[in-house]
Amino acid sequence: MSSKLKVTVWSEGLPESEVNAVRSYPNDINTAIGDFLKKDPALDVTLSHLTMPECGLSQELIDNTDVLVWWSHLYHDKVTDEAAARVVNAVLQKGMGLLLLHSATSAKVSRLLLGSNRSGGKYRECGERARVWLINRAHPICEGLEEDWFDIPNEEMYGEPFGLPTPDDLIFITWFQGGEALRSGMTYNRGAGRIFYFQAGHEEFPIYSENAAVQKVITNGVKWLKPTRGPIPIGRGEVDALEVMDDVPYPERLERSKGKINRRPLPGKYNI
Ligand code: ZN
Repeated sequence: MSSKLKVTVWSEGLPESEVNAVRSYPNDINTAIGDFLKKDPALDVTLSHLTMPECGLSQELIDNTDVLVWWSHLYHDKVTDEAAARVVNAVLQKGMGLLLLHSATSAKVSRLLLGSNRSGGKYRECGERARVWLINRAHPICEGLEEDWFDIPNEEMYGEPFGLPTPDDLIFITWFQGGEALRSGMTYNRGAGRIFYFQAGHEEFPIYSENAAVQKVITNGVKWLKPTRGPIPIGRGEVDALEVMDDVPYPERLERSKGKINRRPLPGKYNI
């Protein structure tokens, strides 16, 4: 069995009417991200897409994914509730890592896992300069970055206040040429899983295929999102006591079912 980290890069597609986006990513964004991730021998990369059966998020694919990279922008509601639930369950129960990029904050999976806002927040599309500042230089996501900051020459502005909750760890803050600032790299623990939001990657500019620092952050992020193989949680429900409790009344129904209800589910077979 391969010891490589199984990474699935998913995107929703770009409409032909968005000429600049199609020019920047003629083979869509999942391909551009997959192309640099595939150069890392530790990663086993699969591409997936909204237009594939089951929204490109089948249970079989999710079961074979350690880390899911997600880029979406316009078609959040084309992802079915069932497909979104498969992703959410995998994060919470199996510890699948989730890397949310750019406008993925409005995706169903983000709303369910982070409580993010449907509309996202303020933005400005004029291709201004963005300077990404490292806030937590000790974090593995910053491994190999050579300065305290890096630039993205042309980016879409997203500004605070931003529709994401206070993170467990703040990795980057981006300053935009027009004056706004954004918490642009944030991590969250949810259930058994880790989530990393990284704002870089407006579709009108070939940021993922050309910006080496962005590529390094995404590669580092994918590796940091590797699942921790801890115990499978029993989840919600009545359970047998672990210790003998002679001095407290024990419900009759628990006596009757002793040994039957405190079974741990198999990995990946457990739903919320
Ligand atoms: Zn954008």
